[in-house]
Amino acid sequence: MKYYSTNRLSPEVDLRTAVTKGLAPDRGLYMPETISELDPVFFAQLGTLTFQEMAYRVAVKFFGEDIPSEKLKEIVYETLSFNTPLVEVEPSIYSLELFHGPTLAFKDVGARFMARILAHFLSEEKQTVHVLVATSGDTGSAVANGFLGIEGIKVLVLYPKGKVSEIQEKQFVTLGQNITALEVDGSFDDCQTLVKSAFMDEELQRKMVLTSANSINVARFLPQAFYYFNAVAQLKEKHKKIVFSVPSGNFGNLTAGLIAKRMGLPVSRFIAANNSNDVVCNYLHTGVYKTKPSVQTIANAMDVGDPSNFARILDLFGHDHTWISGVMSGTSYTDGQIKESLASCYKHTGYLCDPHGAVAYRALKEQLQPDELGIFLETADPAKFTETVEEIVGKGNVPMPERLHEFMKGKKKTVEMGVEFEKFKKYLLSI
Ligand SMILES: *Cc1c(COP(=O)(O)O)cnc(C)c1O
Repeated sequence: MKYYSTNRLSPEVDLRTAVTKGLAPDRGLYMPETISELDPVFFAQLGTLTFQEMAYRVAVKFFGEDIPSEKLKEIVYETLSFNTPLVEVEPSIYSLELFHGPTLAFKDVGARFMARILAHFLSEEKQTVHVLVATSGDTGSAVANGFLGIEGIKVLVLYPKGKVSEIQEKQFVTLGQNITALEVDGSFDDCQTLVKSAFMDEELQRKMVLTSANSINVARFLPQAFYYFNAVAQLKEKHKKIVFSVPSGNFGNLTAGLIAKRMGLPVSRFIAANNSNDVVCNYLHTGVYKTKPSVQTIANAMDVGDPSNFARILDLFGHDHTWISGVMSGTSYTDGQIKESLASCYKHTGYLCDPHGAVAYRALKEQLQPDELGIFLETADPAKFTETVEEIVGKGNVPMPERLHEFMKGKKKTVEMGVEFEKFKKYLLSI
């Protein structure tokens, strides 16, 4: 399969190049050249397949030509070592729980898949490959855990000292093995600058194999389509139109859903559920796309003012606003509204959402039609946001899952780093 850039100013590349480079030279995002429909037989069997089996069949459509089938199967099966159960919250509203992976957030799926794809392509490299990742919290933990124990790859997580919650920090500073956490005495932007400078430094490029694990990478983006199939497979009600409500920030998760629909999954429409960062909602309402600086909210993984995957959405629909707005609508909620919905869902149904899931739940409550059935993506375990959620539903009402507890017990181990590039470079050359 060839991959083209959404800007269409760079040559098409193969999967290996798309995965190791991440971004196209013209700064566009890579897209698969063809998105083909799955066989009707596949859909007829959907309810009888395991999550791993159905995901493998989806994966073959994208990666089958570039990765030997046994290897691809192994990668899919290892990635999906956990399930994504569909839970009925109230009549016609379901939660697709994507947080049963190692770091209790949906990013585990993309990060685990990408780590294995990268390891496959880089297995012939004689040198160790270093993955650099700057994080403001969640990405670092998903990427570090995704790569944990993978041979031939070392991960360096750069994060701003004192600016990451304790729960988030523990998920990447306690791992050891091939994961090193660099505690940077600066901001998230400083971390990102250090990473970018390393990629542009000629000497480092000559002496080391460096790569990134960016969220726009096709190997992180495409596997997110898997669980949309798994959601439909678990549905018992068959006669209603299916609506997915997706809590969105960079829009990778929602775009993967659009791809699943293109592959023939019977989805009627999507709702882009946003916090106060509403640039895509505004585009859907007005046809005009205008980026804005992001604002901080209680659903902070969605605080994005210029979502990178929007370019992929435009591309999928040939930049046709009428077509796009026929398939997805947008809605945006304030922190006050998010809290209100989280509290009322808990009170009336007993189901505890995290702040991101609560945004998507509210969108269904407001917009679902009588002939529709709604599935919202629950992207993180509420315990990852214990402080915020306890403030809404009361202390003691947010159970701490065992896996999170294990992380909290681990011992922190970091390398202290300043913001000067020369020191960072010297460190890289010394490892
Ligand atoms: C990253 C993240 C999102 C946003 O997903 P996108 O694919 O960037 O739209 C939503 N919820 C949680 C918990 C996240 O970590």
